[in-house]
Parts: sequence; structure tokens; C-alpha cells
Amino acid sequence: MLFFVTEKFYSTFFCIFVPNMKIFPFFAQKLLEWYQISQRNLPWRGINDPYKIWVSEIILQQTQVKQGLEYYNRFIARFPDVKSLAEADEQAVLLHWQGLGYYSRARNLHFAAKTILQEHNGVFPNEYQAVRNLKGIGEYTAAAITSFAWNMPYPVVDGNVFRFLARLFAVDEPVDTGRGKKLFTQLAGELMDKPHAGQFNQAMIEFGALQCTPTTPDCSICPFAGHCLALAQNAVANYPVKQNKTQTKNLYFYYFHIIEGIAGQAHTYLKKRTEKGIWQNLFEFPLIESETPLNFDELSQTESFQSWFPQNAQFKLIIDTKKHVLSHRVIYATFYTVTSRRGVLHTPIPPNFIKIPSNEIDQYPVHRLMQYYLESQTS
Ligand code: SF4
Repeated sequence: MLFFVTEKFYSTFFCIFVPNMKIFPFFAQKLLEWYQISQRNLPWRGINDPYKIWVSEIILQQTQVKQGLEYYNRFIARFPDVKSLAEADEQAVLLHWQGLGYYSRARNLHFAAKTILQEHNGVFPNEYQAVRNLKGIGEYTAAAITSFAWNMPYPVVDGNVFRFLARLFAVDEPVDTGRGKKLFTQLAGELMDKPHAGQFNQAMIEFGALQCTPTTPDCSICPFAGHCLALAQNAVANYPVKQNKTQTKNLYFYYFHIIEGIAGQAHTYLKKRTEKGIWQNLFEFPLIESETPLNFDELSQTESFQSWFPQNAQFKLIIDTKKHVLSHRVIYATFYTVTSRRGVLHTPIPPNFIKIPSNEIDQYPVHRLMQYYLESQTS
């Protein structure tokens, strides 16, 4: 295996990597040998269908492989190619995504499939920039698709790769900065075995996922142990370095599951979230949202509560607090049932609610919190 380390690379990163330059000539060979023996058998491996690779990459963006596998198989069985996805109804796409969270991923997949159908005659574009231009596809996903499907030499650098490289070279540069991302991407590119770019990238990710894991890397059996600077410094846990500037905000959600009518023929009310955001176009029960926690007395003083529920409505607390962590928000959700022998909503029903038979609720795509509640009711 031949490596060509550019002058520019030396001059830019000499200070950081010079103690470990010796590893460059045999890095890829060692990595690929490890990969041949240790890789997991996954349905999106060893294929060159860009559509299936794309779907798997999008699913795996915020989801563990174990959980994503089932969703991947189900999604591909229902939408086996670009055309079937592009021509599907958005509600059907969201229903197949239900439980994975981060629904903008599903909406973007759907949108991009339509773009491929309309602008590329249904054929997945085989050029990096054209792939990158599709909605929801960033640098990482474009590199993954083009290298896995066509062996194009674009380095794929995810959290697994950051961690592995940060430890191997004891890189102090934070991985969550633009400068850090650029540096690690360049380093991965220099290490890459370009004729086998797809396999190399898969091996890098797999190594971080299975061997150089976040909390329990087994350095005693690591093929790179003799060259790992973090291990030599007894500082594996200190890498990767993160700047961590993300600020999170707490929100308090109060949901009302209205049960109208007798069991077996009951109806309930849902609202489609139309505002932009990760839950756009998903359905949920009537919701009162607050930036501070509210007790029931405070809730009942709100304008929404007073316009939705008549005096004789009966409320029962079903779930007190369900914590749901998103990248920038932590949601604390509370669920009540609302019942009344004579109907619970003032008429006319607010125009943004729909009334549905309770036993048809599974036909509506819902977000994680709603799904948690509905599952708790059937178990
Ligand atoms: S020796 Fe340990 S820390 Fe270093 S690359 Fe191997 S598994 Fe990761």
C-alpha cells in the first residue's frame, strides 16, 4: 500500500502529528486487516446501491445500529427504491419513521427522492456535488454515499472516527469546531487507502464503533496499541476533546388525551404540528407548552385550558413526568386523560384539531413522546 503525504499537510499539521508519523505507511493495511476479521454483517455493507446506502446513513445519523437495523429493513421493504419513496404519501413515510425521532430526516429523504425523480430521471446522481446538493445530505453523508457506492476518495468522519483519530494521535483540537472537523477530515484523507476508499471509510467507522469505543476501548487487543499516543500518555479518557458550547433549554409540555364517548366507540382529538421543527407534520394531543413547570391549578388558569375544556370535564394524571432529551432542548412531558359523559370540548371544535375514532390513532404518525404514552396505554 502506498501513501503520499503532501507537503501542505506536513506544514499545516506537522506540530500535531509528527510524533506519530511512523504509523502512516502501514495504517490502512492494519486497519483493513482488522476490518476483514471484525466487521459486523449488516445489510448496507458490501453493496453499491446508493439509495440503500443513503437510507442507512440517514437512519444511523441519530440512531444506534441495533435499533436502526429493524427500521432500515422495514423502510427498504416498503420503499425499495427512489421511485417508490418519491411517489409515496408523506404520511406513509412518517409512519415508517415513527419511533426513530428527528423526523426532518424522513421529510428530507422524501423531498430528495422527489428531486432525484424529477431532476435526475430517477437515477441517483453519481457525482459528489450533485449528491451534496440533495436536501438533507451534508458533507458526511455525501462522502459516505459516494465512497461506499463508487469508491470515490472522500473521507467519512463521524463521531467514531473523530474518537479513534483523536486518541491515536492525541489531538487536542476540539472535534466540535469547524477547525477541528477540517483537521480530522484532512488527517483521515491522508491516511486513506484511496483505491479502496469505500472499505477504508467503513473500517474507520467500525473501528471506532467496536474497538476504540467511547468508554470501554479494549486497548490490550488493539492493533494500534503500540502507536497510540493517548495510550502511551495514559490519557485515553481525555480524548476526544470537545468544546461543548451547546446550551440546552428546559420546556414543559402538558398533553390532554380527550376520551369522548363510550369505550369501543370513543373518539379523541389530535392536532398536526405545522410549525417548522423536528416534529413538523406529526400529530399530537392538545398541548399546553410552558417554559416553567405548572401545577394543575396554574394549568387550569391558562387561556387554552379554559377555551378547550368545559366545567364538568374530569382530569386524570396518567404520566407525571417523562423526560425527553433533544439536542438543544430537554422536554418534561405530563399526560392527562380528559373525560366527560357529555363531551368535553366546547363547540365548535377549534379548527386546528381533528376528531378521530380512538381506535384509528395508529394511522397517524406521532412523535416519540406521543408514542411513549400510547404504548404505555396498551401494555
Ligand atoms: S490503543 Fe486504545 S485508545 Fe488507542 S486506538 Fe487502540 S483502542 Fe483506541
